Amino acid sequence: MSSTPVIVVGAGLAGLAAARRLAADGHEVVVLEARDRVGGRTEGGATSDGAPLELGGQWVGPTQNRMYELIEELGLETFPTYNDGELVIRLGGKQSRMGSQRGAVPKLNPFALADLAQGLARFTKLSSKISLDEPWASAGARKLDGQTFETWIQRNLRTTTGRAYFRIACEAVFSAESTDLSALHALFYSHSGSDLETLLSVDRGAQQDRIVGGSVRISEAMASHLGDRVRLGAAVRRIDHDDHGVRVLLRSGEVVDGSHVIVALPPTLAGRLEYGPALPSWRDQLTQRLPAGSVIKLYAVYPEPFWRADGLNGQAASDEGPVKVTFDNTPPAGTPGVLVGFMEANDGRVWARRTVEERRAAAVECFVRYFGPQAADPLEYHERDWMAEEFSRGCYGAHFTPGVWTAYGEALRAPVGRIHWAGAECSPVWNGYMEGAVRSGESTAADIATLIS
Ligand SMILES: Cc1cc2nc3c(=O)[nH]c(=O)nc-3n(C[C@H](O)[C@H](O)[C@H](O)COP(=O)(O)OP(=O)(O)OC[C@H]3O[C@@H](n4cnc5c(N)ncnc54)[C@H](O)[C@@H]3O)c2cc1C
Repeated sequence: MSSTPVIVVGAGLAGLAAARRLAADGHEVVVLEARDRVGGRTEGGATSDGAPLELGGQWVGPTQNRMYELIEELGLETFPTYNDGELVIRLGGKQSRMGSQRGAVPKLNPFALADLAQGLARFTKLSSKISLDEPWASAGARKLDGQTFETWIQRNLRTTTGRAYFRIACEAVFSAESTDLSALHALFYSHSGSDLETLLSVDRGAQQDRIVGGSVRISEAMASHLGDRVRLGAAVRRIDHDDHGVRVLLRSGEVVDGSHVIVALPPTLAGRLEYGPALPSWRDQLTQRLPAGSVIKLYAVYPEPFWRADGLNGQAASDEGPVKVTFDNTPPAGTPGVLVGFMEANDGRVWARRTVEERRAAAVECFVRYFGPQAADPLEYHERDWMAEEFSRGCYGAHFTPGVWTAYGEALRAPVGRIHWAGAECSPVWNGYMEGAVRSGESTAADIATLIS
């Protein structure tokens, strides 16, 4: 084994999973993390009396097999997201309730219902045909990549309600407007996580389970096993590389030498590092075109989850913002009552410029609209604006704008000499999710292990 370490940039789930795999195989590894904490886009918080709040990624669901295995390997546990009772649907100013089991049908007029059903069926069928390893090589890729998701929606849905459903889904899944991303990307991403219905569901879907104590405990447990191989407050500025090794320069001026480097950063941040020699144009042009989504995640804390007594499960989906999607994030003990909501896409962009007090008032107004006057006076309000985070610059993940998969897709995972890439955005499976981050980290580590063993 070489005594020159593999350097991992970033102690999010991808970087830590990569380092854990390399360390387990007996390789030297050092993880350089800019923040003074691990976990990246997963982050722990707490209410004033200590109930955990997850400020970043939180849910896991079926087919995210690597996450469930990892949770078990680390001695952690999951619990089901609260899903008993009905959810609130608000479209065109009209509010109704519907069952929360997968496959439940909203109370819509028959034209809207038929439109939505055929739109979903068409999207699911098309999505299932997109190659996960090479989306750009799928049948019809160029045509699908040459249009925004919004164009696809307008061409394939006829009713205002059907279109509104797809736009809410787009904001909820990508924290981006349907005008922001390519139709090919929307189709690829849905297939990557099974299908659109799975991405949107609690019951047998991506929001099915949560991690006891919060998802950040996964990163904390991995970092604790890695010990002093993980260095916090170590922001990387530049990577020099040649045939013999890599040299990483920190913002502090310190230099760390390694055999290879894994850059486990969101694409927009990977593109902001300096490289010597400069990266090939196709790699740099790719990261110029992969923006992060726009989201503010927020919490209102109540003495108890009062909405449950009214037969509601705390979930809302609305075309009227700024908080269009909510969930019940009450801890397993049952108190305090915690509603989580998201200001996504344009709502996030607009409300990021307002004060915390203004956002709090707007969020509470939405909660009152969905769950009644008892929501008017929360004990506490918490939020995290992910766009303002220097070491994330947006969330949940990156989206491919039109034309990018077909022009630059091949550069996403291809190493440049001794520089390798990892992160949620690099995974063919569960791209953009915690599962994708872990899979990507482990798979990049396995590639490097074959080079240095
Ligand atoms: C609000 C929100 C909700 C989400 N909901 C879910 C969910 O419910 N389920 C789910 O599966 N996913 C969810 N996600 C997405 C999920 O959290 C991410 O896909 C995943 O955590 C990404 O992990 P990563 O390791 O690829 O990247 P990151 O977590 O971004 O890790 C990158 C690391 O690199 C560090 N870094 C950045 N720049 C530098 C530098 N110059 N030098 C050194 N270090 C640097 C960062 O601080 C960070 O620790 C959500 C994300 C957010 C923000």
